[in-house]
Amino acid sequence: MKYLQKLLLLIITFILVQTTAMAGNLRIVASLPALGQIAQGVAGEFAEVKVLAHVGQDPHFVPPKPTLARHLAHADLLIAAGFGLEIGWLPPLVDASRNNNIRQASQGYLDGRNVLNKVLGKPQGKITRELGDIHPEGNPHWWMDPVNGVRLAEVIAERLSQLDPLHADIYRQRASNFAEKIKMRIPQWKTSIQRFSPLVSYHNSYLYLTQRFELHVIDFVEPKPGIEPSTSHLDALVSKMKQNNVQSVWLEPYHDGSMVRKLCELALASCRSMPDAVQGEGFDGYINMFDQLAAGGK
Ligand SMILES: [Zn+2]
Repeated sequence: MKYLQKLLLLIITFILVQTTAMAGNLRIVASLPALGQIAQGVAGEFAEVKVLAHVGQDPHFVPPKPTLARHLAHADLLIAAGFGLEIGWLPPLVDASRNNNIRQASQGYLDGRNVLNKVLGKPQGKITRELGDIHPEGNPHWWMDPVNGVRLAEVIAERLSQLDPLHADIYRQRASNFAEKIKMRIPQWKTSIQRFSPLVSYHNSYLYLTQRFELHVIDFVEPKPGIEPSTSHLDALVSKMKQNNVQSVWLEPYHDGSMVRKLCELALASCRSMPDAVQGEGFDGYINMFDQLAAGGK
């Protein structure tokens, strides 16, 4: 009987320890799937990671539903792309969450400004509405360069080390292993993806990717960022594509539609739906995205 009592006590203690450990876990929220995958890769079992946008969703326009604000309410760390990408939907969610720990400039907020050495695509000169629905702070689609993905992992490891010093070595080791993996894969990705150059892309979502892998983007389906193309713009684009022997049009999965498919048909080019995130857990999900991009998307 005594033995049974001891066993029961042991089981109860074990459950209590487990529950306490779980309650002590960090809570991370990422605005976008690829950022969440990198965070999950670094944090592993020591954090619960929630992602606000889903795979395939347009990151410029995410409906700010109350459920998303609830995810933010108890977050210890919010990871965003920044540079105005989420400006239309993330600030209202942070306000609604009433969580001051994740406001910009606080310890619990991190975005591309903490990651990048250099922002690409910053418009020169005076910024007016004439330029379209432009990203005036520079191009925010920086996670499309795997080297920036590595930098993000390193920044997350440092931030988590401050929030949870007990596991600092593990976080840093994971970021370093990820860096090695990415470094090994870059040459293969570069060789595969270069076969699509020169190309046209719908929105300028691939700037960091095309610079890393030295691809030539001759023009965009959008005449200006966020502006729908007119028939005359599309006609001119077809001629330009033929002159430059462009055989690929890259489009974000959320821009796939009959108009762009018609353009590909007229220009005798392949429309390629090139994801900015794919389904997958942790680092593997992020790495799979480049495998899919290198294979030419869908
Ligand atoms: Zn954009």
